[in-house]
Amino acid sequence: MIELRNLSKRYGSPTGDPAGDAMAVDDVCLEVARGELMMLVGGSGSGKTTTLKLINRLIEPSGGSVWIDGADTEGLSGPELRRRIGYCFQGVGLFPHLSVRENVGVTPRLLDWAPDAIAERVDALLRLVDLDPQQYGDRAPDALSGGQRQRVGLARALAAKPELMLLDEPFGALDPLIRESLQSAFQELRRELGLTAIFVTHDMVEALLLADRIAVLHAGRLVQVGTPAELLAAPADEHVAALLRTPKRQAQALEEVGGAP
Ligand code: ADP
Ligand code: MG
Repeated sequence: MIELRNLSKRYGSPTGDPAGDAMAVDDVCLEVARGELMMLVGGSGSGKTTTLKLINRLIEPSGGSVWIDGADTEGLSGPELRRRIGYCFQGVGLFPHLSVRENVGVTPRLLDWAPDAIAERVDALLRLVDLDPQQYGDRAPDALSGGQRQRVGLARALAAKPELMLLDEPFGALDPLIRESLQSAFQELRRELGLTAIFVTHDMVEALLLADRIAVLHAGRLVQVGTPAELLAAPADEHVAALLRTPKRQAQALEEVGGAP
């Protein structure tokens, strides 16, 4: 479905000295199959957001290419590409001056859908993410809770029936109960719609719980790709092992207090 071929991004250094440039994304090769959920995991600054932005060309690669359904996306314009890809931004990024309904309908409007079709789609999506359109549709984003805003962000990314979803820490900074309910809502949606998705998180527990496969980034390089079971059984290096230690320790601690089955 989607394939990253030797994808690289080098941001210019502020001094203009190429010796000071760092590779934010370094020669990444990754294939995601149709219907698959790939969790992209890594610490802060490991290149997760840059990788997503390279895929929908919010930034241009320094090298390599992105292929969708066997075709190089280089031949598509950025806006053309972005209308085919749902993007859930880190920190949500709803338009503050637009209502909830207007926010969700942004991409269908750009695609010139008929107003009736947009209205119908928007209300269906709001119900899908468990927000009553009557109650919430006309509100401004700042009249919503954090969890509700994240739901609107998710609905907006789904609005134009994308084949591919890119989600950048969509459930970050939420309280654990809301996070869990959004995670399961997302899984249901994904299976229902047969979505292919790349989902960024810095939280290894979230990755292990949701993933078909996990890709681990470290300093811009892809260090391991595998199923949760494969990673747990054989972490590729000390860094991956360290990322897996926290969830393992938590599970162990729970067991010790008698909280786990
Ligand atoms: P992550 O999302 O994993 O936290 P990012 O992809 O945002 O990481 O950043 C990867 C690296 O690229 C970091 O070292 C960051 O400082 C750098 N970087 C990100 N955006 C820019 C930019 N616009 N200009 C220069 N460096 C950047
Ligand atoms: Mg990021």
